[in-house]
Amino acid sequence: MAGGAARELEAILDAAVDPFIACGPDERILHVNAATERLLGWDREQLLGRPVTDLFPSRLHRFHGLSLPRYLLSRRKKLGGRPTRIFARRRDGVELQVELTVGATGTQGHERIVLMMRRLHEVIDSLEEPVEHVPGGPGAGANHEETVDRLYRLLVENAPLGIFHFDRAPIITACNERFSSLIGTSKRNLVGLQLFTLSDENIIACVREALNGHSCDYEGDYHALTTGKVTPVRIRFAPCYSEDGSVEGGVGIVEDITDRRRVEAEREENLAQMDLLFRGAPVGIGFLDTNLRYVRVNETLARINGLPAEAHLGRTLPELLGEPGAIAEQGPRHVLRTGEPLVNQESTSDEDLGAPGPRRYFAGSFYPVRTPDGRILGVGVLVEDITERKLAEEERAHLYREAQEAIRVRDDFLSIASHELKTPLTPLSLRLATLERRLERGENLDPSVLRHARHQLTRLTGLINDLLDASRIEAGRLALHPESTRFDLLVEQTLAGMEGQKGNHTFDFERPREPISVHGDTYRLEQVISNLLENALKYSPDGGNIRVRLSLSDDVAVLSVTDPGIGIPEDQQQQLFDRYFRARNASTRSYGGLGLGLYISRDIVERHGGRIWVESEAGRGSTFYVALPTLSAARPALPLAWPDRHLH
Ligand code: ADP
Repeated sequence: MAGGAARELEAILDAAVDPFIACGPDERILHVNAATERLLGWDREQLLGRPVTDLFPSRLHRFHGLSLPRYLLSRRKKLGGRPTRIFARRRDGVELQVELTVGATGTQGHERIVLMMRRLHEVIDSLEEPVEHVPGGPGAGANHEETVDRLYRLLVENAPLGIFHFDRAPIITACNERFSSLIGTSKRNLVGLQLFTLSDENIIACVREALNGHSCDYEGDYHALTTGKVTPVRIRFAPCYSEDGSVEGGVGIVEDITDRRRVEAEREENLAQMDLLFRGAPVGIGFLDTNLRYVRVNETLARINGLPAEAHLGRTLPELLGEPGAIAEQGPRHVLRTGEPLVNQESTSDEDLGAPGPRRYFAGSFYPVRTPDGRILGVGVLVEDITERKLAEEERAHLYREAQEAIRVRDDFLSIASHELKTPLTPLSLRLATLERRLERGENLDPSVLRHARHQLTRLTGLINDLLDASRIEAGRLALHPESTRFDLLVEQTLAGMEGQKGNHTFDFERPREPISVHGDTYRLEQVISNLLENALKYSPDGGNIRVRLSLSDDVAVLSVTDPGIGIPEDQQQQLFDRYFRARNASTRSYGGLGLGLYISRDIVERHGGRIWVESEAGRGSTFYVALPTLSAARPALPLAWPDRHLH
């Protein structure tokens, strides 16, 4: 029965949460409960018979000449059942802070000393000696300590961070509610947890670091064993020192970084989007610091500057681009000085930026980049390649000028043409009136009057023919009928045909040494020769000598007509062969003409595979050249007639 009662008592004591130790009068242990085994790391059998002071650090074994249990017993009355805070020593030597209550039962010889401990989880300060725990009791020191202690507890408990303390073992000796809720396990389960039994190697490494006196940060996902919930946490491990300066354990400060992770992820995504926008922008974007050194540039700006993006960083515009860079830097410099933006400053590649390749046009904008409180951080640079736009603008302006010119030419032409066409009509009608009068009076007809009338008619016909030819050329309908032609004879005949027109001029013909044949349209080639001869007569003073020369050079017949006339200013020689073009020195009043002869001649010559050009100096005469391939020239057949579609 007695054994049964003892076993029942033992079971009850084992169920108790706090450690319980019973000793005999010799202070040797007679009994410990399971909580004692758990807290102090001993097996019950190992403790039985040992002095109870083995459960405390040796420095605490004696007080005022009494053993620890006896000392505390002697103060029992004064304490009135309140516990004393003290260090207990675990089997492995680690000291734990506990509240200890000592009591005694039985009479001498059968005396039983009972020690009851309560683990102090939350208190992290250390005490060398047992101190009476008197809440609100007398004594300023105790009172002060109590206040600090309470504050400390409040601080730790209310911290928005999980906090836990571990000893050298390393076993968790204390933690706050936040920690236990973060981990999802009760405080009671956490205190006493051996950290080296955790599966996360990184946590273990950090604990070791802290025990070696270093701080260490851990970041990872905590998987709650019970709920399976995953919480991203960041834990800062730091060592805790005892008063002698040695590491007695460490603390872990745990932060739930779920929100921070989300915010970071969002920020990262935003940044990634911004970065994509920045990189992919078809506009050059850059940022200069207040020393006007590039901090960032995108690929487009790097391309515009003709340098890799990395080459920009930390460098100024003049350092990057030399003299043009120094010019370009005036923009951002102005922004720094005035705080005002500069928008759409236009520049070109060869003037400002020095990039190789064809000339490009850019529009640059510079603007101050400020902090929210208005301080200038640097200068934003936006550079847009506006080459296409500029070229289109230039093209439009060019077309506009051409259109204006075409209108002017047309107006000039209309007035010239009407004047030219009218000019022969007056003498013609005069001659006809004379003839009519003579006929009426029965007088003899004067052949010279008829000849003059005929001359005016021929002139009129010539003008009209030129107009028709020009419009045929425009429409691609001037047909050629090529055949084998003796070009030397053709020149000779044309010269002979002009005898009547040459007035006091003289012709000087230098013949080729041998006959020259070409494959050409006789009528049209004669038109070219007579046009050159007529111009030579028209634009040179009466009585001037006109030299005509035909020669052969490498299967090419070269005809030249040289006159001592007014010549052609150099800047207009290129345009002579354009439709309606008349050089400025050939005034309409002094020299009639429609500006079509050379245009028609060039078309005819080029369609014979030849070339026509002029060498001249204003006031010093001109030489016109026509080069034609000879019949014997081994050249591909010439496209002398336009394709059929032009003929309808
Ligand atoms: P036009 O009927 O005006 O003479 P052309 O086409 O034959 O037309 O000549 C075009 C222009 O070239 C002339 O208006 C004249 O200004 C210039 N030109 C042609 N031949 C000569 C020349 N021998 N000497 C000086 N100017 C000439």
